[in-house]
Amino acid sequence: MPKRYIYQFEEGDWRNKKLLGGKGASLAQMTQLGLPVPPGFTITTEACRDFYAPRKEEIDKIVKELERNPPPKVRDELIRKIWDIINTLSLPEGLSEQVKEHMKKLEEKSGKKFGSPENPLLVSVRSGAAISMPGMMDTVLNLGLNDEVVKGLAKLANNEWFAYDAYRRFLNMFGKIVLEIPDKYFEEEFNKADEAFRKEAMEKYKDEIEAIKEKYPKYTLRLDAQPPREVAPKTWELAVKYLKEVVEKFKEIIKKHWGEFPQDPWKQLELAIKAVFRSWMNPRAIFYRIANNITPDVADCTAVNIVMMVFGNMGWDSGTGVYFTRDPATGEDKPYGEFLPNAQGEDVVAGIRTPLSLDELKKTLPKVYDQLIEAGKKLERLNKEVMDIEFTVERGKLYFLQNRAAKMTPAARVKTAVDMAKEGIISKEEAILKVSPDTVLKLLYPRIDPKAKAEPVAKGLPASPGAVSGQVVFHPDDAVAWARKGKKVILVRVETKPDDVHGFYAAVGILTSRGGMTSHAAVVARAIGKPAVVGAEAIKIDYDKKEFRVGDIVVKEGDWVTIDGNTGNVYIGKVPTVEPELIPELQTLLSWADEFRRLGVRANADVPDDAIIAKKFGAEGIGLLRIERMFRKPERLEALRKVILAETKEEREEHLKRLSQMIKPDFKEMLRIMDGLPVVIRLIDPPLHEFLPAPEEILKELYETKVAYYTLKSTEIAREVASEVLRKYEERIKELEDLLKRVLVLKEHNPMMGHRGVRVGVTYPEFYYYLARAMVEAAAELIKEGYHPKLEIMIPQVSHVNEIRYVKNKAIIPAINDVEKELGVKVPVKIGTMIETVRACLTAAEIAKEVDFFSFGTNDLTQATFSFSRDDVENKFMPQYLELEILPYNPFQTLDFEGVGKLVEIGTKEGKKANPKLEVGICGEHGGDPRSIEFLHKVGLDYVSASPFRIVVARLAAAHAAIKEKLGKL
Ligand code: PEP
Ligand code: MG
Repeated sequence: MPKRYIYQFEEGDWRNKKLLGGKGASLAQMTQLGLPVPPGFTITTEACRDFYAPRKEEIDKIVKELERNPPPKVRDELIRKIWDIINTLSLPEGLSEQVKEHMKKLEEKSGKKFGSPENPLLVSVRSGAAISMPGMMDTVLNLGLNDEVVKGLAKLANNEWFAYDAYRRFLNMFGKIVLEIPDKYFEEEFNKADEAFRKEAMEKYKDEIEAIKEKYPKYTLRLDAQPPREVAPKTWELAVKYLKEVVEKFKEIIKKHWGEFPQDPWKQLELAIKAVFRSWMNPRAIFYRIANNITPDVADCTAVNIVMMVFGNMGWDSGTGVYFTRDPATGEDKPYGEFLPNAQGEDVVAGIRTPLSLDELKKTLPKVYDQLIEAGKKLERLNKEVMDIEFTVERGKLYFLQNRAAKMTPAARVKTAVDMAKEGIISKEEAILKVSPDTVLKLLYPRIDPKAKAEPVAKGLPASPGAVSGQVVFHPDDAVAWARKGKKVILVRVETKPDDVHGFYAAVGILTSRGGMTSHAAVVARAIGKPAVVGAEAIKIDYDKKEFRVGDIVVKEGDWVTIDGNTGNVYIGKVPTVEPELIPELQTLLSWADEFRRLGVRANADVPDDAIIAKKFGAEGIGLLRIERMFRKPERLEALRKVILAETKEEREEHLKRLSQMIKPDFKEMLRIMDGLPVVIRLIDPPLHEFLPAPEEILKELYETKVAYYTLKSTEIAREVASEVLRKYEERIKELEDLLKRVLVLKEHNPMMGHRGVRVGVTYPEFYYYLARAMVEAAAELIKEGYHPKLEIMIPQVSHVNEIRYVKNKAIIPAINDVEKELGVKVPVKIGTMIETVRACLTAAEIAKEVDFFSFGTNDLTQATFSFSRDDVENKFMPQYLELEILPYNPFQTLDFEGVGKLVEIGTKEGKKANPKLEVGICGEHGGDPRSIEFLHKVGLDYVSASPFRIVVARLAAAHAAIKEKLGKL
């Protein structure tokens, strides 16, 4: 028994889009609902797969090459190769017979006959994959016409113009799509005829043209728009004559480029089916699938729908249109769409004439309008989707040709999901699942105005979303100075250091030519919600000249550029942007998400501004406060440097006391903003030398000071009058030499694995003591003022439990005890650790007994697990790793489930087993990534912590995970 490849619309299971394709399924659904659909049947996607099967491997290999985005010439050759292979294929066994059988049924249903001039059945042959790929594949209309049938059609419709217009359209489409003849040949001929027709009509039938103008002011004379016969019969006749000539010319073109036009409708049908199968491998379709990551498990090959033709071009009571059940731009619950009278489907797409709005359709064809709207609402309820419906009206009778889920803007997606849940069409859970977490992110940042026609000059990584224009500056200090003058600046750097952060705050955006998604610039920009594009390598920066070059373009300090942190694009000049739409429906949706999610959501926030934004977006506390940013003020940095450079413990303690008093107010402010909510403050983490000047800088100053000193000393007057100045120079030289010595001692080959994190706390327990003291004092003072701070102190970079024991006993617990004693209040403090080394994960059971909480630092943990430097990989080998599919995705963005994820799972499970009260969170960048959040939900974390703008993403993603788990889909 040959396989069954065909289903009539009455019999196909419309839930099975994979088999019938989206269009086929929708036609089956509407037919079975009793809506007026022209009769027809669907050839399944399985038939298409079987069609490709004999040469699939070869084709797949070529598609793989296309995925690498080769240069246009190579790309075109590869596509040609694919098509040459496809053109050797034949329809799968048994399909032709089944097509014949089902065409018979179609003839019975329609009461017409395929190929019969008396009562001809014409069909459309339409593509349609499991998911909609609008306009990417091909469709042939009016199939079944030939030299005889066209005469019959003319008689039947009592309209030669209509019949020959349909024929010339068919020849053109068939020639182009099925026979691969370039469209331009047809276009040239048609344009010639169109021009000649208009010229002749104007010359010969001026009076008629005038009459048309009077009666149909909207009509323009052209060969593809039927002249109103009752007003202008001679012009009409003339158009028919020209159309007949065009038909002959088109057949000649076909003969010249392919061979005699196949008059046999069955031959036409066979060729058209093959062509629609082939259109799955259209360059458009291939690249659409690559761009949208449509893999075979989502959609594999196209179905072919064979549908009886209905005609929208049969007169002014006919037409074709598109109807959205709600406004796809705003989400408003109002029918939205267009109707083009007296036209066939492709005229709407081609934009030949301006269509009418649906309101106008309501006036001209009220019954059709009512029927349309009623059916739309019915389909919306049934499919639980905003619908996009294609329809045709033939002599006042409505036909549905397709329905599909409407594509909408992010704002409309959120609004319609919430509205539909409120209307009871879908549940709250379904509404949440309809909005992908990344969609909401797009609602929170300014975007490049979609109407702006700007070409990017470079592309980097979209490190922090938002689009913004500003004047270029190259130094953080300049950023501050310019911003003070009220200028909007974009800070352009090769890469950034913690020292640059004041420039970040002053700038409206950050652009770097080096660095990856977790580079300093990227992390900080995301944390403070500044748009950033990093690693735009095409940009060559010259700090001395204060300019950058990109290709031939030179951009100087003060010139305007626009960066788009949503796409990574960089533009020259000001490109208009549109403001974020903070719609109330998003608030509603997020509040529903909160009802379902199990994971808590906290924020990575270091300064009050971040904390305020985070709270506004719904953060339930702070999961990571990196104190390093508190040392960036000059007097604090100075104090910290003195701590680092101190030679004795006493000296160090003296500076530490001062430093801790300086940062205490900041801790207090953060705890106050988050009153009643947990705030995790991390003890100092980065390598100490990062807070000191670079050796080259010291050497430069030393050299300059020495030159000045010796020059002055060698002069006569110096000895007499400048001894004081000379003494100052000598002091400075000594200071600089000491500093250089100390900096060189602190210098490490591998600072990321060096003297940082808890190791600093072990070597200088007083360091951790005073930092902890500042935190506890801040909390104690707040308690006295009537607040409820929930302080959680976190120890970074731990690899052995003994490190924790040591700093707890030597620094943190004494700090708590001392403050409690001195201030006379009990301060509830949790002590926890970051888990960011492999050893910490593997010994989690032991560590868990010593702490109240874990927080996975998956930035460092990923670095440690892969042995990939997080600051370097993304501009070195990561792009190639991704392109070659050595890695499926960037593990610094989405958690590597099998490796790093496994460590997280082990750490969580063992930790919780050893200490059931242990609270487990994550504060690496993955805490704001939807796919990672799903995984973290599964392995049993208690909360995620994400940068402020990602809080909404995390809330929604956490709800998605919980709901999917409930549905057994996780
Ligand atoms: C981490 O390593 O994941 C982390 C949050 O710490 P940082 O990025 O500050 O090293
Ligand atoms: Mg870390």
